[in-house]
Amino acid sequence: MKCADEFRSRDITGPLLAELNNCLSRPVRIMEVCGTHTMSIFRHGIRSLLPEGITLLSGPGCPVCVTPASHIDAFIRAAELPDVIVATFGDLIRVPGSKNSLAAARAEGARVEIVYSPMDALELARKENNKKIVFPAIGFETTVPTIAATILAAEQQQIDNFFIISAGKTMPQPLELLMSDPELEVDGLLCPGHVSAIIGANAYLPLAEKYSLSCAVAGFEPADILAGLLSIIKQIENGQPQVDNCYTRVVSDQGNIKAQGLINRVFTPEDSEWRGLGLIPGSGLKLQEEFAGFDALKELAIPIEATEDPKGCKCGDILKGLILPPDCPLYGKRCTPLHPVGPCMVSNEGTCAAYHRYSEKR
Ligand code: SF4
Repeated sequence: MKCADEFRSRDITGPLLAELNNCLSRPVRIMEVCGTHTMSIFRHGIRSLLPEGITLLSGPGCPVCVTPASHIDAFIRAAELPDVIVATFGDLIRVPGSKNSLAAARAEGARVEIVYSPMDALELARKENNKKIVFPAIGFETTVPTIAATILAAEQQQIDNFFIISAGKTMPQPLELLMSDPELEVDGLLCPGHVSAIIGANAYLPLAEKYSLSCAVAGFEPADILAGLLSIIKQIENGQPQVDNCYTRVVSDQGNIKAQGLINRVFTPEDSEWRGLGLIPGSGLKLQEEFAGFDALKELAIPIEATEDPKGCKCGDILKGLILPPDCPLYGKRCTPLHPVGPCMVSNEGTCAAYHRYSEKR
């Protein structure tokens, strides 16, 4: 038996579902923050098993989806420079900017390579030492420590042809913004397992207290997700909102102090633009002054220019949990995984992509 099998067994999920069905007395709206949760919920058909009174909303936890078109344009501008190779995660390559994507730029002759980690990009810089390697550094607290470790390695190894476009983001600020929106009426948060491993379960205490919000940190297997949802429902029913850590095999109350130290060593907070959510104070990460030499925007004079999201695309409303993908007029018509209009249809963790792949209607 594989380790994951235990968390998919009906012996465990069956009683959890039965309890969920028994203890819900009113309709509730729960936001699953993380894109990996969204994908797992669809993959395992969890939506169709839940009591009717539970509405699941997807949140802003897909890093590719929340990266604004202005940053995608900057990644493309970098790729179009002579002697530059953009080394990027694969799911970023087809995300549309204001005019085209990295994939389209590559088809027109720009050099874009897919890497699986920032360290792979650094390795490319070592091999191609007559080129400048630019890594689009998107991601949340989960990914940023490895980017920070790569910058420190580049500095230590005196590799001077490696750069990043810093586009990392932190999760508490957009959650605060969303929970303060009365239009959303969220009763509970299924907190992201990966991000929580770094920032710790206690990071959600201010949200739980300020908004009387029932929170559960959950892993990604069906039993994890159902246990998280059950915890939220029980908190709501008992009128005792709190933060329940249902993923203690990975997440501690304080998080990963070493990873937090790496982030703080290399980066410092800045205001950041989120697709669909706008400018959120303190939610982005820029390089500390002592690492400014790794900043591609500065060193290669790449501008970030404000731009519109693709016309008709409702990714912003999807990321805020205001609508579901079928509510977008382009869904499944002009926008499909083969011909995506917005990032939520491209990314492996995008809500539109998950809906398109797994929706019951299909
Ligand atoms: S279906 Fe496509 S265009 Fe509509 S919100 Fe999703 S990604 Fe954007």
